[in-house]
Amino acid sequence: MTDDRGRPPVSPAAGAALRFFWGPMDCGKSTLALQLDYNHARQGRRGLVLSTFDRAGPAQLSSRIGLSREAVEVTAELDLRELVAGQPAPVHYLICDEASFYTVAQVEQLAQLVDEAEIDVYAFGLATDFRARMFPGAQRLFELADEVSRLQVEVWCWCGRRGLHNARIVDGVVAREGAQVVIGDTDGDGVRYQVLCRRHHQRGQLGPAG
Ligand SMILES: [Zn+2]
Repeated sequence: MTDDRGRPPVSPAAGAALRFFWGPMDCGKSTLALQLDYNHARQGRRGLVLSTFDRAGPAQLSSRIGLSREAVEVTAELDLRELVAGQPAPVHYLICDEASFYTVAQVEQLAQLVDEAEIDVYAFGLATDFRARMFPGAQRLFELADEVSRLQVEVWCWCGRRGLHNARIVDGVVAREGAQVVIGDTDGDGVRYQVLCRRHHQRGQLGPAG
């Protein structure tokens, strides 16, 4: 079998890939990230785990169900190609948690690592922010990834509908403006997040009335 230019087909299994797994808070992204790292490491592959703004603090990848490990903290200035080039041994894969908070340039660096260094990249993140607008890093991942997967662990709004949006709650009210990235549940600053269905995110309704 050949393609329309007479070339043999390329096996879909050949070569490294950029994979993006997305979903709202609590859909199991960080748990899957840790599981993938474990599975690859068991195969004798060497990888790096990256995160940013983890709920457990810098240089951590933590999962709400209680797993965690050390991670490289991705700051806005970090060049991911230089990070990989500076490792003492070859890197086979990258696990990138909270990847929607990476810069557009960093997402492009991930694609270059796939194409030029044959490194498998597994990126995990939210698609949209507290206003239901796409994060720039997430948008670039949708544009560049070889595979995009919506995570299937269901998260529900209080009403029982599927939870789609990460509402930012400031002093008990759904926020409509503010910085795109604000980490909640820190220092009693009155900011937290709650997964809501589209309808209740639009209405700003955090629970059954009365
Ligand atoms: Zn709802």
